[in-house]
Amino acid sequence: MSLFSCVQCGAQFPDSPAPPQHCPICEDERQFVGWDGQKWLSREEFAATHRVVWRDDLGVPGIAVEPQFAIGQRALLVRERDGCVMWDCIPMATEAAITYVRSLGGLKAIAVSHPHFYGALADWSAAFDNAPVYLHEADSAWVTRPHPAIVAWSGDCLKLSDDILLVRAGGHFPGGTVLHWRAGAEGRGALLTGDIATVVMDRRFVSFMCSFPNYIPLNAAAVKGIAAAVAPLQFDRIYGGWWGRNIAGGAKGAFDASVARYLSAIA
Ligand SMILES: [Zn+2]
Ligand SMILES: [Zn+2]
Repeated sequence: MSLFSCVQCGAQFPDSPAPPQHCPICEDERQFVGWDGQKWLSREEFAATHRVVWRDDLGVPGIAVEPQFAIGQRALLVRERDGCVMWDCIPMATEAAITYVRSLGGLKAIAVSHPHFYGALADWSAAFDNAPVYLHEADSAWVTRPHPAIVAWSGDCLKLSDDILLVRAGGHFPGGTVLHWRAGAEGRGALLTGDIATVVMDRRFVSFMCSFPNYIPLNAAAVKGIAAAVAPLQFDRIYGGWWGRNIAGGAKGAFDASVARYLSAIA
């Protein structure tokens, strides 16, 4: 028996004697199956060929898998007095990385923007006394490795602490979630977006897509829905889903300009 991870998207599957036949995340039109067919790594093969690294990303500690694996996202650790909230997740947990996260105060919760970044959330939760994992219920069908710590939250927002609010924005996935961190950016507020509002390469705008690899744009109604969900939030900085993909300052204006630019482009 082993846990298998999908090489293309990083999704983890339950203990089984052989790799799964299919990866529903990859077979969805938002992703793709590798050109040479579906490939898997057992937990042991994964551990022998990859590691978890950590570094500071614009003042916030983050973790990622090296060499780059699957979608290549990094997760962030939003620190509070009583522990960290892990925002988004990565496909692997290692003893060294768990020790590192413990040195930051450990995990009190995990929250993930959307199913492409669910990764090894069960392993991370289990390492911290089954810390609750907040996933929007609209995307529950995409959980590939069920775990009792998963909390399928519903509605438009969920407050995790005085300073941390999950906001359902939809778009890329129906349950697409962003995290508002009131104390972020030295108190000016930060928005952590994964690829629900993805920071583009010039790092002055965000964009919105149904599928990134297959270039399926999001329609106007969905983009307006994201804009409406984000409108009440105050923030000066946006942290995207990959190392360095952040808008360091003036992000509220950049977000609004991005919505206008996008709607004009698809009009
Ligand atoms: Zn996959
Ligand atoms: Zn995605």
